[in-house]
Amino acid sequence: MPSAQAILQTVFGYEQFRPGQAQVIQQVLNHQNTLAVMPTGGGKSLCYQIPALLNEGVTLVVSPLLALMKDQVDALRQNGIPAAAINSTIPKEEVNPILRQAYEGKLKLLYVTPERLAMEFFQYQLTFLPIDLIAIDEAHCISQWGHDFRPAYRQLQAAIEKLPTHPTVLALTATATPPVRQDIGEQLAIPAANFVITSFTRDNLAFKVVHPPVPDRQYIVQYLQAHAGEAGIIYANTRKKVESLAEYLQDQGFDVAAYHAGMAPEDRAAVQDAFLADQLPLIVATNAFGMGIDKSNVRFVLHATSAENLESYYQEAGRAGRDGLPSEAVMLYHPNDLQQYRWFLDQSDADEAYREVQYAKLQAVTSYANTPQCLQQNLVAYFGQECPPCGRCSNCLDEREVEDVTAVARVLIAVVDELHGRFGKALVAQIATGSTNQRVREVEGDQLPHYNQLTDYSQAQANRLIDYLVATGYLMLEGGQFPVVKVTPTGRAVLHGQVTVQRRVEPRPVKKAAAVPVETPEQAALFERLRQKRRELADEQGVPAFVIFSDRT
Ligand code: ADP
Ligand code: MG
Ligand code: ZN
Repeated sequence: MPSAQAILQTVFGYEQFRPGQAQVIQQVLNHQNTLAVMPTGGGKSLCYQIPALLNEGVTLVVSPLLALMKDQVDALRQNGIPAAAINSTIPKEEVNPILRQAYEGKLKLLYVTPERLAMEFFQYQLTFLPIDLIAIDEAHCISQWGHDFRPAYRQLQAAIEKLPTHPTVLALTATATPPVRQDIGEQLAIPAANFVITSFTRDNLAFKVVHPPVPDRQYIVQYLQAHAGEAGIIYANTRKKVESLAEYLQDQGFDVAAYHAGMAPEDRAAVQDAFLADQLPLIVATNAFGMGIDKSNVRFVLHATSAENLESYYQEAGRAGRDGLPSEAVMLYHPNDLQQYRWFLDQSDADEAYREVQYAKLQAVTSYANTPQCLQQNLVAYFGQECPPCGRCSNCLDEREVEDVTAVARVLIAVVDELHGRFGKALVAQIATGSTNQRVREVEGDQLPHYNQLTDYSQAQANRLIDYLVATGYLMLEGGQFPVVKVTPTGRAVLHGQVTVQRRVEPRPVKKAAAVPVETPEQAALFERLRQKRRELADEQGVPAFVIFSDRT
């Protein structure tokens, strides 16, 4: 029997395994249920394709993406590997012949959707097949904690248990945070010892966050000019924004096309093909674009609207630089986008627990956009890993000093905590800086503790610090029109001295040049003469002197 290494070279034409691949394949061949967490483009497919070739029977691949199934089946067949897919696009009369092939051992890989696998009759048909491995792609869809929950995934385990061959289970995902991993493990009977988690650090990616008030379109135009000739994806969160941005950029002379799920399939395919074939350098797209798309030379991914969660963000951003060459991932951060996501959640009829999870995800995006920490560090920390500062991201390259504001943050958080989340920002700032506000005394009566600990802070400064603590996730605002300030778990960790708070030194407010008119010496002399004149008149006529020509005397 050839080795996995030999198949890698002879069948797939690759020299060596990528990180994690060899271990996953090894475990799978040892019949150990395995969870493989590897970044997008990390080469997850080979982790089941190679065992499929080494195993006797058939490998069942569960994938939610029809397009991806088709691409993979086509690619496998081109490599001479017998593979097929069963999903809603396959005509009914073709299903049985495919199953018969599998039954006769003429098929190595059979791709199915989770919805198909949930059907009882299909489950019955599968009991006749020699299935020795079941690979579950995009396994995070099984978890409510994931960013892409698919109910049909919940029924997978029941379907697997009905298979008389007791196949080995291999779950694969690019985006599992620690709670998602645990969930996958529990639902698919994969012990944590069998998790193979490769590094999430992308050493060739430079992350960048751009804050308002930079005007978006101007920024994007300049960015594209600076990256002329490079392939890039610009993401926006609605079809309308995608279309109007694409149109605007076309007007500006850029070679760009729009892509979203509302377009005719043939138009979408044309745009995608042109992009993949390097005939079209730029695409403006919703998140409908990119799943399973394998273009190695994308030099940048620019999010024109803030992402909804860091899982999606990392996955989308990760489409840049798959070839390992230096690439950028830029996010134009808009607090309003996140506000809007929040609003949609508020309006949705999703249950409380689900909403809480989603709120926490939004908060993580806000923290990412506002942290002074290395952005790469912040992202991999979200996925439960650690890495040294990258030295490439916009925070690592930010030359402003970082100050430790733990002491003042603690005071503020303590105040918020003691007020039990009943007051808005302004009142908290007042109390913390020692103001004895009438309203506060009314509410608190004699019990108002007299805070006076931020004496060298103005209320405006305290206000800004609260904003910062909210943005970075130590405090949170709750309630619609008049939100109250509350302490988050991370904020509590600050209170207990377990976490420090850093902030970039506030930039000095820059005076707008135009607001201060410049006087020429001639004008100044003229004004002075006029003032003198006015005073003389005032003396003579007994009217008060006032300055009429300049407010800068
Ligand atoms: P994922 O599913 O993890 O996002 P894929 O399985 O689609 O990634 O693989 C991404 C690309 O990397 C594919 O073009 C694949 O052929 C290629 N690839 C996978 N493994 C290797 C390897 N060991 N060496 C070189 N290229 C590889
Ligand atoms: Mg994949
Ligand atoms: Zn960095």
